[in-house]
Amino acid sequence: MIKFSVSRVEKEPILLEGTEGPEFWALPENDPYTSDEEVEYELQVRSAAGSILVTGWVRGTVNAVCGRCLEPVTMEISAEDIELYYAKSDIHEEELDITADVRDELLIELPMNPLCSDECEGLCPVCGVNRNKTECQCSRQGNLAWGALDSIVTEEK
Ligand SMILES: [Zn+2]
Ligand SMILES: [Zn+2]
Repeated sequence: MIKFSVSRVEKEPILLEGTEGPEFWALPENDPYTSDEEVEYELQVRSAAGSILVTGWVRGTVNAVCGRCLEPVTMEISAEDIELYYAKSDIHEEELDITADVRDELLIELPMNPLCSDECEGLCPVCGVNRNKTECQCSRQGNLAWGALDSIVTEEK
């Protein structure tokens, strides 16, 4: 949990730094992403007029399957410019737990479609080879692949 004492931050800024286990992600069981590594964070907590301000970063690592070539991928995910505000009038506890808010900052950094690389060539839609590893006849003809297949079928008739 990432939390701080509200009365202490009234007196002085607090530096929250450390690590959380991979369960910090709280990823649902059927999520495309999993994590088995620690999450690192460094957050500065300050009191300002009427509110408490939290700034800093959080970084973690997730595993997924590339949406194009279906190979496993490990990705570093980070939220580098976190800025969270808490109105003092809304704070009723002495210890403020900001774990869920920091988690949300990290979750929005997860790409919708995980890729091993932006340049991933994916699987050939014709023969199914991983085009990052093997160059097949069809991939060399690019989008004409289906047209080429048509003509092969025609020749066989
Ligand atoms: Zn890929
Ligand atoms: Zn192919």
